[in-house]
Amino acid sequence: MRELPRKAKAVVVGGSIAGLSCAHALIAAGWEVVVLEKTGAPRAGCATGAGLGLDPLAQKILRSWLKQPGILELNTVPLTIDQNEATDGNKNRVLTRDENLNFRAAHWSDLHSLLHEALPAQTVCWGQMFLTFCISEDRTHVEVKSKAVQTGDITNIVGDLLVAADGCLSPIRQSFLPDFKLRYSGYCAWRGVLDFSDEENSDTILALKKPYPDLGKCLYFTLGQGTHTVLYELLNKRINWLWYVNQPEPELKGSSVTITVSDDMVEKMHEAAEKNWVPELVKVMRETEQPFLNVIYDGEPLDRIVWDNVALIGDAAHPTTPHGLRSTNMSILDAAVLGKCLEKWGVENLNSALQEYQSIRLPIAREQVLYSRRLGRIKQGLDLPDRKVFVPVTAREEDCEELQQKAMPSLNEIPSILVAER
Ligand SMILES: Cc1cc2nc3c(=O)[nH]c(=O)nc-3n(C[C@H](O)[C@H](O)[C@H](O)COP(=O)(O)OP(=O)(O)OC[C@H]3O[C@@H](n4cnc5c(N)ncnc54)[C@H](O)[C@@H]3O)c2cc1C
Repeated sequence: MRELPRKAKAVVVGGSIAGLSCAHALIAAGWEVVVLEKTGAPRAGCATGAGLGLDPLAQKILRSWLKQPGILELNTVPLTIDQNEATDGNKNRVLTRDENLNFRAAHWSDLHSLLHEALPAQTVCWGQMFLTFCISEDRTHVEVKSKAVQTGDITNIVGDLLVAADGCLSPIRQSFLPDFKLRYSGYCAWRGVLDFSDEENSDTILALKKPYPDLGKCLYFTLGQGTHTVLYELLNKRINWLWYVNQPEPELKGSSVTITVSDDMVEKMHEAAEKNWVPELVKVMRETEQPFLNVIYDGEPLDRIVWDNVALIGDAAHPTTPHGLRSTNMSILDAAVLGKCLEKWGVENLNSALQEYQSIRLPIAREQVLYSRRLGRIKQGLDLPDRKVFVPVTAREEDCEELQQKAMPSLNEIPSILVAER
């Protein structure tokens, strides 16, 4: 009997959005995939993460992976309006309004569950902490060592390709670029999700719809002096909010960019909110259980994201600030492009596949990371070499054009390798 050709195998480190997206894309390209994720189990439920916005291309790619028609629509809500407003703390004034946004809002854990449930069982090895990797001398394979977090057992997995989807603090990236440092943006973000499913017509929600009448379809940015908030509704009667606060860089503990907050910090945040935001928004912040604080970083765009049989994707490849809603969208696009490049070139031409992946994704990631940085600095009233500090209450129309999501470079660009078969 003739032996079937061996399936190419990828070891993906990180089982968040980029890692699971990569598993979908590579399986679709005919590869065998093992995902190693250090957390012990799929992270379901509202307590994990908050909201994110999916752009039209990411939606299209996700639909192709999720297969079940309509499932993405069932688990997300449309975001059709992008609105920037100035506030004096009592009243909001519209600065820009774009009614052709065409994004969808998802809760991180809903999107993560959708991606996970659509994968073949056993694709993700939960509770596996990646330790090290070693590329064979002839560059034909890579050996990855991981440790079971619960038992301490060590496993060695050999694959043709190692994909680093291990987030903005990527240990794998660090092994190639030991001097790379994340760059603190100058601000942190308070984040929270108010669940009002048990009281749909609560005074808080009814009141919020006065200053924010298009909730349910609108991505609201409210700009105060040197600070701004983001507000939009998620599926199942949840309000997602973020509030960016300029401050010195906090010290990070462990390997997370989320800071554990004390009751005292939350109380101080509520008090400061009173001075900046309309009372209806302050009430939402006060009623949100377990708000959390993210330290906002990005990184100088990298010159390369592939080395031999190793590729970086997602936040590992391009840590970015959140203002252009890029992290998740870029992760999905990275994965889709990587999958198509591997399919086109085959494992026997891995180097060409990875070079093509890099040549498609690097330039766009670079401009989007830098534009997100710029957007954040404008909205936080921080200085930029080529424009005056933004003052929302006195801003004129021409000062505001850059604020819109549609100003993001290459937002609607579809790489030709994806168009070919779509
Ligand atoms: C729990 C969680 C909740 C989030 N919630 C939101 C949200 O609400 N809104 C939003 O916009 N973004 C959120 N993010 C970030 C968002 O997922 C990313 O910015 C974006 O989607 C890119 O994802 P990523 O997979 O590249 O990176 P990340 O999402 O940061 O994922 C990296 C993954 O790698 C794993 N990992 C790291 N080191 C190792 C190792 N040594 N061994 C094994 N595994 C390792 C981590 O546990 C993590 O699961 C969240 C991320 C996480 C992990």
